Amino acid sequence: MDSAEPESSGKDMTRSIPYGRQSISEDDINAVISVLRSDFLTQGPLVPAFEERVAGYCYAAHGVAMNSATSALHVACLALGVGPGDIVWTSPNTFVASANCALYCGATVDFVDIDPVSRNLGIEALTAKLYEAKRRGSLPKVLVAVHFSGQPCDMRAIRALSAEFGFRVIEDASHALGGRYLGEPIGCGRYSDITVFSFHPVKMITTGEGGMALTHEASLANRMRRLRSHGITRDVDQMSGPTEGPWYYEQIELGFNYRMTDIQAALGLSQMSRLDRFIDARHRIAAAYDAALAGFPVITPAADVRAHSALHLYVIELKTDVLTVTRRQVFESLRGAGIGVNVHYIPVHLQPHYRRMGFAPGDFPHAETYYRRAISLPIYPDLGDDDFSYVLGALDQALHPE
Ligand SMILES: *Cc1c(COP(=O)(O)O)cnc(C)c1O
Repeated sequence: MDSAEPESSGKDMTRSIPYGRQSISEDDINAVISVLRSDFLTQGPLVPAFEERVAGYCYAAHGVAMNSATSALHVACLALGVGPGDIVWTSPNTFVASANCALYCGATVDFVDIDPVSRNLGIEALTAKLYEAKRRGSLPKVLVAVHFSGQPCDMRAIRALSAEFGFRVIEDASHALGGRYLGEPIGCGRYSDITVFSFHPVKMITTGEGGMALTHEASLANRMRRLRSHGITRDVDQMSGPTEGPWYYEQIELGFNYRMTDIQAALGLSQMSRLDRFIDARHRIAAAYDAALAGFPVITPAADVRAHSALHLYVIELKTDVLTVTRRQVFESLRGAGIGVNVHYIPVHLQPHYRRMGFAPGDFPHAETYYRRAISLPIYPDLGDDDFSYVLGALDQALHPE
């Protein structure tokens, strides 16, 4: 940073604008405080209340809250029977958790390249890969469909392919709570077996850390509930024999402690009452970016007319062929101006852990090309007009340095 920078450059070093952040109200704070004054900090009434609230919002039959979306993805895979010898496919343009969940189960991971416009896994690539896998006898057991940035995948096409090729579908909707597809909420489960949400602070609503799995199938919900809490049941119907008394429980299988606390659920419940307002605010910001960036040498996100995105992220791709600056220079210039831009995502198959499994550069070229040009601009409900204008000014300057 140049300390002799003239003030007229418009750079304000005291500013700090993240790419995403939570919105916390007095009601949220009071909801958490009242749990602290109550009898139950965990395993009380608020976790089931939060589960019902989210499931009800999404028109799903069952919600199973957990301590993260990562945990929810893990038990979702287990509930669908993923284990050693199985194959799970997902998009390379996602957070590593979408793929790691299969590795936790001892399964093998493979990827389906993205569609460069939607940035979601491409249906043509998926279809071609399925025919190829069928010939080789290596069809996936589960597809983890990631709704990148909140824009839903082409779920109708994915459902048709799952019926034809016999795989099951988990929606990684970590970016997509509050979004809609063909007029119905993401999470309604019309096109998938299980949908997973994240409540990390940058996501649509927060519980600090937290996640939830939604499903229509009671058996899947029961299995996920059991796995979330050590594989233990107090339900006599699930036991191997008669109960030995009111204290009695049985560990049916090996599970985990993936439980959410009532402190977190209280925050989540309170946040749910503002979810629609959060999504509206994100849409206003995205529309303002779309309009303001029309003359910039960048590709802005394409909106799918079949869907209402939750707009977790607003990712631009730099038209690097017409620019004199690199993506890295633009990124560093924005960071230097106090703007917490980010890059979503480094293709998962290029991570060292995945390269050791044999993946290499060039395997999924659309995801790799997209990655080299992508920058996530700030978008969150409380992003003010002044900060928004500042981001635009800084981006203009970063793209066209004197
Ligand atoms: C955030 C995120 C996750 C993981 O969520 P946690 O709640 O942090 O475990 C998984 N998948 C995607 C696509 C995400 O963005």
